[in-house]
Amino acid sequence: MAYSAPRGTVDILSDNSGQWQQLEQLLRTICANYNVKEMRTPIFEHTELFTRAVGDTTDVVTKEMYTFEDKKGRSMTLRPEGTAGIARSYVENKLYALPEKLQKYYYMGPMFRYERPQSGRQRQFHQFGVEMIGLESPYVDVEAMVLAVTVVEALGLQDITLHINSLGDEESRDAYREALKKHFEPVIKDLCYDCQQRYEKNPLRILDCKVDREHPFMNDAPHTIDYLSENAKAHFDKVCELLDDLEIEYVIDTNLVRGLDYYSHTVFEVISDDPKLGAGATVGGGGRYNTLISELGGPDVPGVGFAFGMERLLIANSDVDAEEDGLDVYVMPLGNEAKDLAMQIVTMLRANGFTCDMDQCDRGLKGQFKSADRFHAHFSMIIGEEEVKKEVVNMKCNHSKEQNEVLLENIVAFIEAHYEGGHDHE
Ligand code: AMP
Repeated sequence: MAYSAPRGTVDILSDNSGQWQQLEQLLRTICANYNVKEMRTPIFEHTELFTRAVGDTTDVVTKEMYTFEDKKGRSMTLRPEGTAGIARSYVENKLYALPEKLQKYYYMGPMFRYERPQSGRQRQFHQFGVEMIGLESPYVDVEAMVLAVTVVEALGLQDITLHINSLGDEESRDAYREALKKHFEPVIKDLCYDCQQRYEKNPLRILDCKVDREHPFMNDAPHTIDYLSENAKAHFDKVCELLDDLEIEYVIDTNLVRGLDYYSHTVFEVISDDPKLGAGATVGGGGRYNTLISELGGPDVPGVGFAFGMERLLIANSDVDAEEDGLDVYVMPLGNEAKDLAMQIVTMLRANGFTCDMDQCDRGLKGQFKSADRFHAHFSMIIGEEEVKKEVVNMKCNHSKEQNEVLLENIVAFIEAHYEGGHDHE
C-alpha cells in the first residue's frame, strides 16, 4: 500500500527547512531584543484545559479539536493553540511567585485544528506566539503589539495594518452581551442552530459565525467599544495614545472580536494585503486575557499575548539566500585510496568547524563538480592518485576559479588564510 501524509498536513522537505530555520532564528533574535524568553509546553494536554481556556462555545473547541482517549481512558487533545498550555504551566509551576512580576514568554511549534484544508489553512500548522503575564498595564499591551509589528516589518511583509479594538472588562462585557441579545432577539429563529445556542451561552460568538455571516443583522450589530466601562475606556485610550506616541499606525476595527473566549480589553490583529498572501489575510492576532490565569486555578493575574501563523510568515519571506548555507568544502576523491584520505579530511575539517561533505558515489570529476555546485561549495577539493602520492590536495576556489596545491597539514591554515584575506566573497 502507498502511504500518504494525512490530509491537511505537509512535509517540510530539506529544500525548505533552511527557510524555516531562518525564520525561527529571526524570531528568536527579536524576542531576545525584547527580553522575551522561550517556553516549551507539551503538544497534548488534558482536553478540559482547552474547553476551559479557549471556551466551550468557540469553533476551535466545538468543531476543530483533535481529541483522543489515552490507554487509561483520559481525554487528551492535541493543542489547537499555545496560550492555554503556557497559562497552565504558569499556574502549575507557580511562576507568579517569581520576583519579576512581568513574565514574558515566546513559543513556536505545531498546532492542530480539524479544519477544511485550503490555501493557507492546514490541520497541522505552526504558530509563533508571545505571552506577557503579570500586569494589567496598557504599556504591556503596546509592548506586545510593537513586538508583533516588528516581526512583520523584519520579514518585509508589505501593506500591513494593525487592527485594534477593545472588548472591555467584565462590566463592559455584561452590558454588551445584553445589547447583543436585544439586537438579535427579533431574528434569532432565522439564525443557524449554533447561533441559537450561542445566543443563550455566549452571544459574542454569533459575530464570528461563518454560516450567518451575510445576515443583515450582522452588519449593524452593536459594537463593544460603545459599551466600555470608564475603566476599560481609560485603558483603551492609553493604548491608542502610546501607539500614537510611538508612531505605530493602526486602525480601530470595531468588528474585531477574535475567535477565542479568553480575551478582554485590547484585542488586535495584523492584517496583510501583501500580494503573496492575498488581500486581507490575517497573519496573526491576540489580545489581553485578564481572567484566564485565575480560571485555570491560579491567582488573579492578567496577561496579554498574540500568535502568528508561521506558514503565513514564511510565504511572505520566501526569498532565502541559498549561498548562505553553502558548504565550505566539497571533497572530491578519485579512486579508493583517495576516498580513504577524503574520509579522514572531511572528519578533520568538520572537527575544525568547517561545513563540508564528500562524494560517496565513486563518480567521475564531472558529476562531483555538479554536486559541489548544488551544495554551493566555496572550495572543491580534488584528490586524485597523484595527490595521494604527493600528500597534497588540489583546492579550487569556486568563486575566483583559482587552484592551489596544498599540503595535507596546511589545509586548515590555507582555508583560514583564504577567508581572512578577504576571499570570503561575501
Ligand atoms: P488564532 O489562534 O486562531 O488567532 O490564529 C492565529 C494565526 O494562526 C492566524 O492568524 C493564522 O495565521 C494562523 N492559523 C490559524 N489556524 C490556522 C490553520 N488551520 N492553518 C494555518 N494557519 C493557521
